[in-house]
Amino acid sequence: MTAIPPEMVETLLHARWVLGADDDQALLEDHCLVLDKGRIVDLLPSSEASERYSAQTCLTLGEHVLMPGLVNTHGHAAMSLLRGAADDLPLHTWLQDYIWPLEGRWVSEEFVYHGTQLAIAEMLRSGTTCFADMYFFPNQAARAASEIGMRAQFASPIIDFPTAWGQNATEYIRKTTDLNDQYTNHPLISFAFGPHAPYTVSNAPLERVAMLAEELDIPIHMHVHETAQEISDALKADGRRPLQRLAELGLVSPRLVCVHATQLLDEEIALLAEHGASIAHCPESNLKLASGFCPVAKLQQAGVNVALGTDGAASNNDLDMFGEMRTAAQLAKAVAGDASALPALQALRMTTINGARAMGLDNEIGSLETGKSADVIAVRLDSLNALPCYNPLSQLVYSTQSNQVSHVWVAGKLLLDDGELTSVDLGRLRGHVQQWQQRIQPDTRR
Ligand SMILES: [Zn+2]
Repeated sequence: MTAIPPEMVETLLHARWVLGADDDQALLEDHCLVLDKGRIVDLLPSSEASERYSAQTCLTLGEHVLMPGLVNTHGHAAMSLLRGAADDLPLHTWLQDYIWPLEGRWVSEEFVYHGTQLAIAEMLRSGTTCFADMYFFPNQAARAASEIGMRAQFASPIIDFPTAWGQNATEYIRKTTDLNDQYTNHPLISFAFGPHAPYTVSNAPLERVAMLAEELDIPIHMHVHETAQEISDALKADGRRPLQRLAELGLVSPRLVCVHATQLLDEEIALLAEHGASIAHCPESNLKLASGFCPVAKLQQAGVNVALGTDGAASNNDLDMFGEMRTAAQLAKAVAGDASALPALQALRMTTINGARAMGLDNEIGSLETGKSADVIAVRLDSLNALPCYNPLSQLVYSTQSNQVSHVWVAGKLLLDDGELTSVDLGRLRGHVQQWQQRIQPDTRR
C-alpha cells in the first residue's frame, strides 16, 4: 500500500474554534480552514488536515475563533471625514442645517477617495470584510476599495436635486449603469442603485430604477421609513405611506434593501416578507438621531431578512460592527420586551450571512463553506474581557471588543496581520485626514 501524498495548498489555518455554516453545530472545535487561490477549499478537524494537506503558509490560532468576515450592510464611507462635525441633533436638522451644507462645500473626488480609505482602514481593523455604501463619487470610493483589496458594493446615489456628482436623476442613473458596466467582472466590487429616500426621489426615476434593477439583476438600496416625520410628511403630501408608494411603483422585491425601517405597520412587515425584501438595520445611528426603533424580532418572526449596518460615521460615530452587533442584540430584546429575542447566534448571522444575502452575495461570502471566497477573520478570545470562556458564541456578541480581531483575509489575501494593516499606508492616510480636518474645522458645529 502506498500513502497518498498530501495535496499542496496555499494556506492552512488551525483554530481553537471555527464558526461553521450549519445552524445546529455552529461552533467547531480544533478545526482547520484550508485556503487556496482565494477560496475556501476545505474545513476539517486539525488532526486530519496535516495528513491531507501541505501548505506554503500554516498558521496556528490557538486562542482564536475563525469566522466569516463581518458585512456592514449600510454606510456612507466618505462621511468618516465628517465624524463629529455635528452631533446631538435630530435627523432633519442634522441633515438640512449641517450635513448637506458641509457636503455642498467640501465633497469632491479627493474627499471621497480619502474619506473612503479612512473608513476601510477602520472597518478592516475591526473585522469587516465587505460593506455596502451610498455616497457621491462612487467611482472614487470603488478606486479606494479596489486598491486596498476590500470587498464592497456601491449603491450609486440617485436624488432629485443637483450635487457635485450630478445634475438630475437621469444623469445619476446613467452614471450608475456606466459604473456597473465598468466593474461588471471585478472580483471584489459591485454596484447597486441608491435612490436616497422616498422623500428625495420622485416617481418617474423610481420606476426607471425598478425596471433597470431587474434587467441588470442588481440591488436597490434605499433609506426607507427612517423617522415618524417621514411618514407624516408623506401622508400630508400624497396620502400614502412611503412603503405603499414604493410597492405601487414596483420597487418592493427581493432586490430591495430598506435601510432603517423604524416605522412599520404589521401589514408592511407582511408586505416585505411576501416580496422577499431585506432590511439594513442601523441601531446606533437610529439611537443617536432618536429616529425610532426597528422591530427586529417581529421582522424575523415574519421571515424578513434583517442585516446590520453602521450608517455613516457622522451619525454613529464609528464603523465598529462588533459594537453594532451588541447594540442590535440588546436593543432587539428591549424593543420586543423579551430577553430571548435575537439570541447570540442570530445576531452573528445578521452580521454575516444576512448581510451577504441582502447584497445578493450569499453564494460568494457570509459563511465559511467550501467553494466560497476566503473572506475570513480571526478573533482572539483570551483577552481579560473574554475570560472565562464558557460559550464563545455568547462572548463574540456580548463581550468582544473589536481590537480582539487579529487577522483579516479578503478573497484569501491577508489584509490584517496580527493587528497590522498590510495594504494601507497609515502614515500617509493620517496626513490626508489631518489636512481635511484643518480645512473643514471652521465650518463645524461647536
Ligand atoms: Zn444612511
